[in-house]
Amino acid sequence: MDTHAGELRLASIRSSLDAYASQLRCWMRFCAVTGAPLMPPEERTVARYVSIFRNSDSANKYVSALRWGCDFLGVSVAGWDTRSLHQVVKGLGKLRPSSKKKAHAIRWDLQRLLIKCALRRGELQQATAYNLAGNFLFRVPSELLPLEYERTKVINHQGKLARQVTLPKRKNKPHGSTLIRHCRCPGDKIMCPVHALGDLSHAERRTKGRIFSLNVTGFTRTLRTHVAAIPEAKGAPEEYSSQGFRRGTAREMLAAGGTLAKILEAGEWNSKAFREYQDSEEIDAAAILEIIVDADEAEDEIESAVQVRAPAAAPQTAPKRAAKRGAESRKITEFFGQVELAAQ
Ligand SMILES: [Zn+2]
Repeated sequence: MDTHAGELRLASIRSSLDAYASQLRCWMRFCAVTGAPLMPPEERTVARYVSIFRNSDSANKYVSALRWGCDFLGVSVAGWDTRSLHQVVKGLGKLRPSSKKKAHAIRWDLQRLLIKCALRRGELQQATAYNLAGNFLFRVPSELLPLEYERTKVINHQGKLARQVTLPKRKNKPHGSTLIRHCRCPGDKIMCPVHALGDLSHAERRTKGRIFSLNVTGFTRTLRTHVAAIPEAKGAPEEYSSQGFRRGTAREMLAAGGTLAKILEAGEWNSKAFREYQDSEEIDAAAILEIIVDADEAEDEIESAVQVRAPAAAPQTAPKRAAKRGAESRKITEFFGQVELAAQ
């Protein structure tokens, strides 16, 4: 009889698990990407989590699953399941904490103005750098500025003139990546990746070696000077940095109706985390995109800081942090292992 009761209990847990597994996995992914602790949840993390859902009903569902997970594990919900969080879920509150200041997204209208500004000043390299940063969603310091002429060529792609760039290695792409962007002439000549670099090569009479003699400090300083000269640019010049191009192009694609999957693919962001949810009706693509881009930039910053201060210890990644919490978290790990299994 005990066995029977046990089986019943297991069956009930199993069916609850199945019902909640997808929602709880979303919480796991969110924590993995942002580096936030899985359990016990923190109020500010849950408040940020809530922002990825399209509406209150969806947010409520996912928050209920999280509450259920805490109850099941005997983890107190008092720390996060607060009145102010309920207000946030209802869309009434603004608990959503502003994370650290991030670079302004440089949308294409502003990219065009920046290019024009650079061209007027005869800064052809800077203008070309803006163009390529926007088109290819490059990380400016590590991918764009070291780029060599030998890594790019003009090809015919799907019957159209295109520029191809091959990166020997890229974050999330250890074996490198080949990127192709079509000519935008004549409609959007200023943003054309084929002809902009062609013009630079022609003007400087160079077809070999490093394209740019700019370093990232110089690039950023000039960018801010240009921003200061453009009345349409919002905010202070110091709020702009080279990362703004990657984020700006992503937003541009989203505004043009691009799916999250397509955008993540274009920028080669690590899209594994939210793959299961990225076409979900419940998830807000723009919010997920911001979270993925934020996490990616934070990683880049850690990486460059580590390079500067070598041989500093490698940065702790979220899974390592989670593993460090010791025996008390074994139950939690097992539980979320089950949640993972329920996906299969
Ligand atoms: Zn063109």
